This record gives sequence, C-alpha cells and structure tokens, in this order.
Amino acid sequence: MASFLSAGDKPVVYILATGGTIAGASSSSTASSYDAGKVLIETILQALPKDEVAKYATLKSEQVLQKGSQNLTPSDWLKISKRVNELLKDKNIDAIVITHGTDTIEESAMFLQLTTKSDKPVVLVGAMRPSTSLSADGPKNLFDAIVLASSPLSKGKGVLLTFNGNILSASDVTKSSPVHIDAFKPANIGYLGYMWNNTPYFLRDNLQRHTTQSQFDISNTSSLPQVEILYGYAGSSAKAVEDAVKNGAKGIVYAGVGNGNFNDEVQKALIKASQSGVKVVRTSRIIYGPTPQWGEVDDEKYGFITSWWHTPQATRIILMLGLNAGITDSKELQKLMLSY
Ligand code: ASP
Repeated sequence: MASFLSAGDKPVVYILATGGTIAGASSSSTASSYDAGKVLIETILQALPKDEVAKYATLKSEQVLQKGSQNLTPSDWLKISKRVNELLKDKNIDAIVITHGTDTIEESAMFLQLTTKSDKPVVLVGAMRPSTSLSADGPKNLFDAIVLASSPLSKGKGVLLTFNGNILSASDVTKSSPVHIDAFKPANIGYLGYMWNNTPYFLRDNLQRHTTQSQFDISNTSSLPQVEILYGYAGSSAKAVEDAVKNGAKGIVYAGVGNGNFNDEVQKALIKASQSGVKVVRTSRIIYGPTPQWGEVDDEKYGFITSWWHTPQATRIILMLGLNAGITDSKELQKLMLSY
C-alpha cells in the first residue's frame, strides 16, 4: 500500500488498481495501439493535480491486479470483492475507488454491487485512452471518481461508476461504444446523475437491492458455478446449447433475438437442458430495455427464467451468485432477477 497524499481531516479514499486502459501505455501519444495494464497506480496518480485532490480526499493506493479487463476471471472478481469488503470494514477508510479496464468493468461492478456489504461509497472508473495519450481521459475520470467517492451524497447509493462526467449505478451500466470516450450508458432508465464543477448531482436513486440489502455472501467462496452466455441470431443452431451442457454448464443465459426469443431448434435444446437441471435464463441481444416473462415463450412450462432489466452479462452474475447460494428452484431464481 502506498500513501500518495495526506490532507488531514479529508475522507480517506482507498484506490484499488486493477489495470486496464487507464493504466495503458503506448510508444506514441497519438496512435490508437497500446498495451493495457502497464502503468502502476502510483504513476497514474502523479497525473492528478495534488492541490485539487487535497481539497477532497486523503488518498491511499494499492495495486491489486494489473491486467486488461478482457483477461479478468470470476476468481479475480472474488479476489477484488474480498479485498473491498476487508477495506470497507476498516474504520479509517471512508470510500473506495477501483481503477479498471472498460471491457468488463460492468461485470466487476455488478459483482461488487451484489457482494460488498457497506454503505460506504465504492466507485469504479476507467478510461478509453491510455495514460500516455494526448488528451488522456483517465486523469479527469479518476479525479471525478475520487470526488464522487469522497462525497457524503454517495453513501448508500450502491456501487457506482463515473465516466466522462456521468454517474451510473452498477446495476444498470453497459459499455456502449468500443472506442468513444463517452463509452457508458445505463441499460434502462438513465444516469443516476452527473459530475459538475467537482460536485456530484444525483437525479435519481437505485431502488433495486444492492450492497447492504444483498443476500449474497462470497466470503467463503473460492470458485463460482459455470454459467455460459450464448448469443441468438437468424439460423442459430442447437449446437452451442448442447456443447455448453456437455462442457458442464450449470446455467445458460441465452441472449436471444427481440424479446429473448430463439428458433424452434434452439428452443428444443434449451428445454432439454432445463429438464436435465441446467438453469436457462432468457435475455436479449438488445442491450437496452427489459426481457420480461410472458412473451412468446411459455417460461413457466419449461422452467425458464427471464432477465427482466439485466444485460446478459449482469444476468449471468445474478445466476452465478444464486446457484452459488444453493438456489436451484426456477421460481426463486426468477425472484432474484426481479429484485436485484
Ligand atoms: N481492453 C481494455 C480493458 O478492458 C480496454 C479499456 O480499459 O478501455 O482493460
């Protein structure tokens, strides 16, 4: 752990660094190619205006991982979540900021949303341009994250993500551009708020269960159940479903077309999977908007579950945590989708 700056009575914000483009480096400040997860957090922090940071927080930092987030695994989620819970219990730490690659930041955010147990602010942040880039977006995003984490307004709001001046709930975040710096949108209702002039402005609250109201406890978990996401398209075959079952999947999240639909061949394979005890959740390849029950598929008849407002990747996390908690009844799993 390194101490960057001490600002007396300001909240202590603990920065956990995991890698990503915010820690990326390139030999050119203008080319688009770079390596993610190269720069250590102590160096990244040097790009922040110390005097400005000192108005809001005392920082401590730790490099917990150093990867592009495309290489993160569920074991990494467990590692991060356990460390976050440990830090949140420390009465000398007021809030946590996690620097993270953007590719799977929404998955880590959702996992933390359901497995961390505190009202203290936890804010994830990343960047679309590497730290060596001309007009790198990381320092401003990180500064916003520190300000957001240090604000009493952020307490009890669940896990947050700030990006490009927006504040999003971890329950409702999805990467919406592979390249633009405004890369994150809420999948359903809207931003929780905005950062402006070093102040968070919250416009709404997240009424879904999270953090202190979450039933999930991973403190004794060393691995999570295998759940696969499969993608629907015109002419999709049953093969992917059959392979997932053969390879030991305990759950399948099927990102179908439209309102979580699939063709007859895929449906037959999913029914067979469901009858063999594999949990099947219908969701949609359309990121925005819900996949509700009672559409064109008779979910109750086949023991299927639907994701409602969750993206396929968030749905997978709820299913993994539900199965990990020993919940296998489809109706109970359906309740989880609705309440988180
Ligand atoms: N591949 C990078 C990552 O997720 C992309 C980024 O951080 O923007 O780590």
